[in-house]
Amino acid sequence: MKRAWENNIRKVVPYVPGEQPSGNRLVKLNTNENPYPPAPGVKKALSEMDADAFRKYPDPSAYMLTDALARRYHVGADQVFVGVGSDDVIGMAFLTFFNSKKPVLFPDVTYSFYPVWAQLFGIPYQMPKLDCDFRIRKEDYQGENGGVIFPNPNAPTGIAMGLEEIEEIICDNQDVVVIIDEAYVDFGAQSAVPLVSKYENLLVVQTFSKSRSMAGMRIGYGIGHPDLIRALNDVKYSYNSYTMNMPSIILGTEALKDDPYFYQTLEKIKKTREETKIWMRELGFSFPDSQANFLLATHKTVKAEMIFEALKQEQIYVRYFKSPRLDNSLRITIGTDEEMAVLRRFLETYLNIKSHTDRFC
Ligand SMILES: *Cc1c(COP(=O)(O)O)cnc(C)c1O
Repeated sequence: MKRAWENNIRKVVPYVPGEQPSGNRLVKLNTNENPYPPAPGVKKALSEMDADAFRKYPDPSAYMLTDALARRYHVGADQVFVGVGSDDVIGMAFLTFFNSKKPVLFPDVTYSFYPVWAQLFGIPYQMPKLDCDFRIRKEDYQGENGGVIFPNPNAPTGIAMGLEEIEEIICDNQDVVVIIDEAYVDFGAQSAVPLVSKYENLLVVQTFSKSRSMAGMRIGYGIGHPDLIRALNDVKYSYNSYTMNMPSIILGTEALKDDPYFYQTLEKIKKTREETKIWMRELGFSFPDSQANFLLATHKTVKAEMIFEALKQEQIYVRYFKSPRLDNSLRITIGTDEEMAVLRRFLETYLNIKSHTDRFC
């Protein structure tokens, strides 16, 4: 029998993050982490950190980090909001900006956290379908709606949209807030940050988790008009004043100081990505032309789920989504050259054996 208090429990179907398996022999290409360490200055600042300082609460405005981000992106400090990963920033933005009775719009194939926040906060939403090449159709975002959000590049397709098209979508939706989730922008798309000075309804969200190799520190940020940032802060201060802990504030600020390291790491990943595209095509895979740090690959004959399981046996982890339009694809994070070589060697053998056994069965 149902206990009375159960009637008052908020029911949600949670977001399912990728596995975090442990072991040192494994090749982990399933959650789009950066395979390279954070900037050297981060390690140094960490070793010099004074634990006695943790006695006090952190600065609730995280000004040191907010100001460093403002300088880095040439905006005012009152145009930056920081949070515990971009998930915190986006969740807070859903709560703050998506309060209309009209549906919020995001693509059917995109970051699977968006429908979870919408459901959690009781926000109506619609998911216009990507076209058959997995591209966002900008015409789908022209009607009346309660807000718009999509990643650029989109995830898990990796497809980037040009800035002109992004601007058209923002321009067509000036009565609502448009959020561009730029979790992967540094790997090869154009950022919409410069449009912030032109459109008061634009919030651009970025993260330290992917391009800055700091997923474990949980740092994300949004850039937008001071009025949007003020509204976000009002909601934050009504929920938890101290979202950013001291190490995140200090180490995030430190990471921003080393542009050469940042660009060098990005170049390495982009080079590996382009090389991976070539050998994967030779092995019979196809994929959208990713500008992110992952590929969404489908094999011409072997089912994605079979490859996923076979890779897992070998301790090679990639991401498999058992959802309608993705269930024959694997999302493979771009790792180091060595990690990609392990993946390649296994796939060459596996697909070769598969094609022979399939022929004789
Ligand atoms: C990884 C990711 C995020 C969130 O990352 P955080 O670690 O919370 O900063 C947001 N959006 C997309 C599309 C992502 O892939």
